[in-house]
Amino acid sequence: MSGGFVLSKGIMDNYIQLVERIASAAHVEKDEIERKVEAKRAKLSGLVSKEGAAQIVAAELGINFDKERLKISELVQGMKRANIVGKIIETFPIISFNKNGKEGKVARVTVADDSSNTKVVLWDTHHISLVEGGELKEGDVIEVSNASVRNGELHLSSFSDIKKSSERIDAVVTKKPLMMKKLQDVKPGESLKTRALIVQTFDPRYFEVCPQCGKKVAEDQCINHGKVKPLQRALLNLVLDDGTESLRAVIFGEHIYKLGLTQEEVFSLERFSEKKHSLLGEERFFVGNVRNNALFNTMEFSVDHIEDVNVDLLIHELEAKQ
Ligand SMILES: [Zn+2]
Repeated sequence: MSGGFVLSKGIMDNYIQLVERIASAAHVEKDEIERKVEAKRAKLSGLVSKEGAAQIVAAELGINFDKERLKISELVQGMKRANIVGKIIETFPIISFNKNGKEGKVARVTVADDSSNTKVVLWDTHHISLVEGGELKEGDVIEVSNASVRNGELHLSSFSDIKKSSERIDAVVTKKPLMMKKLQDVKPGESLKTRALIVQTFDPRYFEVCPQCGKKVAEDQCINHGKVKPLQRALLNLVLDDGTESLRAVIFGEHIYKLGLTQEEVFSLERFSEKKHSLLGEERFFVGNVRNNALFNTMEFSVDHIEDVNVDLLIHELEAKQ
């Protein structure tokens, strides 16, 4: 359940690394770089992540990381000439396609290092033949250079390079990384982190769970534990909107309190109705999984973590005070 927080912490660490790198390459103090990053973000109305802003600052200072190797978690949308080393943890069937009468192929593998993992997409026939011929396979450590980051994937053109590395990588992150996504781009089955507004609320619904295993119970009977004294749980349906699309969301249990509701307001429909209008227009980061709701035949966002929008700034302020 603390996945979202771990995520922000990871991003924070990776941001600090990036700032240190820029500071040492530019021969200026870290504080100076951080000020430039904050100024850049303010100028872009917070639309760019801290890492993204740091990349822009680096480019403006004439620093490039062309020859540098990046951790997979440091890859940022729009990067070109990115270099990584990682282990292939998954290969996908090669896809043939026909575009404007020309036959083409594309190969995909998932590559992981100790920071994250990413899909690596191969468009060059020579690169594809390495995967096809089994020269590059699951478990191999590979070195990728001159690749570009598009749609959260690392794309290789014929100017890029991919080859086996003699390095050893033991611990890799295999959990699918969460990516900030526009609601209009989301598909069922995907995990999602989005910054969105609450545009509609519905009354909470209540159900009972087993105090021992958390499973739903009916008439005080748990399928695992027999007769139990059930706990009351609530779920809240909302409609979220990020400006590109609106999406129905469901929030369970204690996560509802992250919206600023008290237990009383959640468990009393009367108290809730007094409060619900104040939820409209509230903005948060919502993290969770998107699935198909068979009943409504629509997509539904099951939220399992909520963060305040200014959480980065808060962490930053806390660190500055230490
Ligand atoms: Zn039980």
